[in-house]
Amino acid sequence: MSSKDVVREGVDEIVRNLGEISFEDQTVLITGGAGFLGSWICDVLVRQNASVICLDNFASGLESNVAHLMNHENFTFVRHDVSQPIYFDDERIDVVMHLASRASPLEFNKFPIQIIKANTLGTWIALGIAKKHNARLLFTSTSEVYGNPEIVPTPETYNGNVNPVGIRGCYDEAKRAGEAMCMAYMRQHGLDVRIARIFNTYGPRMRADGVYGRVVPRFITQALNNEPITVFGDGKQTRSFCYVTDQVEGLLRLAWFDDLRGEVINIGNPNEITVLELAEIIRRIANSNSEIKFYPPMPDDPKRRCPDITKAKTLLRWRPKVGLEDGLRNTVEWFRDVFSNFTGYSK
Ligand code: UDP
Repeated sequence: MSSKDVVREGVDEIVRNLGEISFEDQTVLITGGAGFLGSWICDVLVRQNASVICLDNFASGLESNVAHLMNHENFTFVRHDVSQPIYFDDERIDVVMHLASRASPLEFNKFPIQIIKANTLGTWIALGIAKKHNARLLFTSTSEVYGNPEIVPTPETYNGNVNPVGIRGCYDEAKRAGEAMCMAYMRQHGLDVRIARIFNTYGPRMRADGVYGRVVPRFITQALNNEPITVFGDGKQTRSFCYVTDQVEGLLRLAWFDDLRGEVINIGNPNEITVLELAEIIRRIANSNSEIKFYPPMPDDPKRRCPDITKAKTLLRWRPKVGLEDGLRNTVEWFRDVFSNFTGYSK
C-alpha cells in the first residue's frame, strides 16, 4: 500500500467511527494545522464538508502534510506564527482547535522560547479569536502536565509532579499555563473551552528527522535503515502509545459534544510497554537486523506514563481501537513508502 493509501484508509476509518459526529457546515480554525495531528484533523474535517482554516508557520509542521488540500474550496491556508496577533474579521469561526506547538523532547533544548510562546501567547491569541467569534475552543494539552507521575494509570484529578526549571519545563509548564488560561477565559468570559491531555501518539506524518523525531518514528527509521536503535537509559521507562486515528477521533469527539464545557480529558491508549519492548517490536515488524544500543538517559524523563481513560470512555463514548502491532505495521509501511520516494523535507 502507498503512503497516501495508508492515510486515506485512516481518514475513512475516523469518519466511519465518528458516525453522526460531523462538523459539516461549521468553520473550524486549526492552529498547527500542517503538523502531525493537525493535518489529520484537516483531512477529516474537509471530508466532512466543514470549512477549514489551517494556520501554521511550518516551524515543525510540513507543507507536504497539507499540499493535497491547498486547492480545495473548503480549505484555507494561512502561514502565520500563532504567538503573534492575527484577526479574522471577515470569517465566521465556530470552533478553534489550538494544536500549534513543537512537541518533541529533543526540541526542548533548541527551541524552548518558541515552545513557551506557542503555548502561552499562542493560547492567549487562540482564546481571543474564540472569544470574538463566540466559538468553542479545544486546547491540546499533554500528559506532560503530570510530569513524572506518582499515580499510574494517571487520572485527570492528579495535579502533577513537574520540574519547572528542568529541560522539559518549557513544554510542561507552558501547557499547564495554557490550561490555566483556558479555564480563566471560561470563568471570566463564559467561553466554551475543552482541554485534551494527549498521551503519546504515533502514526503516518510524524517527523523522524533530527530533533523533531519522537521515539516511534526514530526507531522505525533506524530499523528500516538497519542502523542501531537508540534506546535512552536502560529502556525500562514506559510509555503507552495511541495510534493517530484513535487520537484524532477522540479529539473531534471532545470538540463536538455540547455538554463538555470546561472538561479536561485524557486521550490516549492505556496499553503500557517499556521503551525496550517497543524497540524489539519495531525491529521485528520492520524485518530489521538493527542492533539495540543504549545511550545516557534523557534528563527528567518520566519513568512511567499511562492514561486512566475512564473519563473519555464515559463522556466521549470513545475508546482506542487500534492495537499497537497493527498501528506500527501501518506506520512502518508509511515510512517505507515515504523513504522510497524521499525528496527531502520541505524546509
Ligand atoms: N527514547 C529513546 N530513544 C530515542 C528517542 C526516545 O529511548 O531515540 C525514549 C525517551 O527517552 C522516552 C521515550 O522514548 O523515554 C519516549 O520519548 P519521546 O521522544 O517519544 O517523547 P516523550 O514520551 O518522552 O515525551
